[in-house]
Amino acid sequence: MAGARKRDGLPHVVVVGGGFAGLAAVKTLSKVKPPVRVTLLEQHNYHLFQPLLYQLATGLVQPADIAHPVRGIVRRYRRTSVRMATVSGVDLDAREVLTDEGGRFGYDYLILAAGATTATFGIPGVAEHSFPLKTMPDALRLRAHLLRQFELAENDPSVIDQGALTVVVVGGGPTGVEMAGALHELFKHVLVHDFPDLDINQAKVVLLEATDHLLAPFHPSSRKHALEILAKRGVEVRLGQALERATPDEVKLKDGTVIPTRTLVWGAGVRANPLADVLGLEQTRGGRIVVGDDLSVGGRPEVLVVGDLAGAGDGKGGLLPQVAQPAIQEAKHAALQIQHTLDGTPREGFTYKDRGIMATIGRNAAVTELPSGARFKGVLAWYMWLVLHLAYIVGFRSRVSVLVNWIWSYLTYDRHARIIVAVEPSRRPDTPAQPPPAAPSEAVSGDRPVVG
Ligand SMILES: Cc1cc2nc3c(=O)[nH]c(=O)nc-3n(C[C@H](O)[C@H](O)[C@H](O)COP(=O)(O)OP(=O)(O)OC[C@H]3O[C@@H](n4cnc5c(N)ncnc54)[C@H](O)[C@@H]3O)c2cc1C
Repeated sequence: MAGARKRDGLPHVVVVGGGFAGLAAVKTLSKVKPPVRVTLLEQHNYHLFQPLLYQLATGLVQPADIAHPVRGIVRRYRRTSVRMATVSGVDLDAREVLTDEGGRFGYDYLILAAGATTATFGIPGVAEHSFPLKTMPDALRLRAHLLRQFELAENDPSVIDQGALTVVVVGGGPTGVEMAGALHELFKHVLVHDFPDLDINQAKVVLLEATDHLLAPFHPSSRKHALEILAKRGVEVRLGQALERATPDEVKLKDGTVIPTRTLVWGAGVRANPLADVLGLEQTRGGRIVVGDDLSVGGRPEVLVVGDLAGAGDGKGGLLPQVAQPAIQEAKHAALQIQHTLDGTPREGFTYKDRGIMATIGRNAAVTELPSGARFKGVLAWYMWLVLHLAYIVGFRSRVSVLVNWIWSYLTYDRHARIIVAVEPSRRPDTPAQPPPAAPSEAVSGDRPVVG
């Protein structure tokens, strides 16, 4: 299964990861001159548009709206092939990528774009009892769990006092803010009609943030706007409050406050993909791989690292944020450095072109800041957010589907994807079956099994 290094006499580039960065890399590589042969290794058979995961978790969009088959994307690129494989390591001296499936892919150049994973900072109980929001199964599990809590509460209202209808979202960054806003809308505009026998005022969303402000990367006026909107709409925002520990039925804050809840949504941090830990390369805080100006790793110009996995400098002594634009720009740059080496021209240093930042807070509310210093908030910023996110979704069909869902939801307040689906961990056919999922009654007791 090893990939021949010089089939067709062309240099072979292996790209690990089919996210924003990996796809931008293969697209650019398909056009470089002299030409190269490219193999994309991706553990899933789809590219996931992570920025809309919160909409999947809250029933606004369907899985196929935000996930696109990788093969369907890559087939339009020349000399590019895809393997669905989970990369387990790289033999940097032998120039081979190793996979869980036993594959070895020889390369002349390697672009690592395996992204990031959730960081729980070692807070007791978080890894076991929280719902992260990083993958498609994460979002589907959370959606099923939330909807099930409402079903359970209608059958037995006493579970409401045990936190069945309380969701605690940790992290006041863009993910936490958009999640808190979306959950509140789901409860107060949609589930209120689905569960007429429930007192919906007992459903609440608490947003915890350890610092004294939301949306850290934004201007204070944008932060203030986000706080005001969330508070006005009924989200309980607790600033300066850090989580101490979590159990299946409650969270305890550092100040001693205990909040009964069965749903802890973790939006507080990411860490580089664990692949970074096994390569023997220098890492930053947060596990990202240290890269040089051209995005290659020390002493190995044939290995370049991009996206959330890369610790690329922001030119001001810090690291670039782990968001989509740096990932895309770095990936294009890395592919072009390979071209430079092949055509004998000197490599160039990477410079990030700031395109601005934006975060949505909920219906008709967002904040947008442009590099020029211009700031927008409210409906205009929300439209900007909608247009930009729509433009980045892969595939015309998905864009239309998302747009229709958004318009439908905007006009009717409906979220038609409020479906409980059992999400089981993926399993290789040759591994033993998982134990059966817990019965609903056990699920209530809160061990957050694979069935929500
Ligand atoms: C909930 C959420 C909301 C977000 N919202 C925004 C937003 O509004 N705006 C914004 O700019 N950014 C947002 N981000 C961040 C943005 O999604 C990431 O910065 C971006 O996806 C990084 O791109 P990447 O290609 O480096 O990593 P990813 O997009 O994560 O891609 C990594 C790919 O590598 C694959 N992979 C991982 N490990 C392996 C392996 N061992 N073998 C093979 N394949 C592997 C993964 O399956 C994945 O497809 C959000 C992220 C999340 C989780």
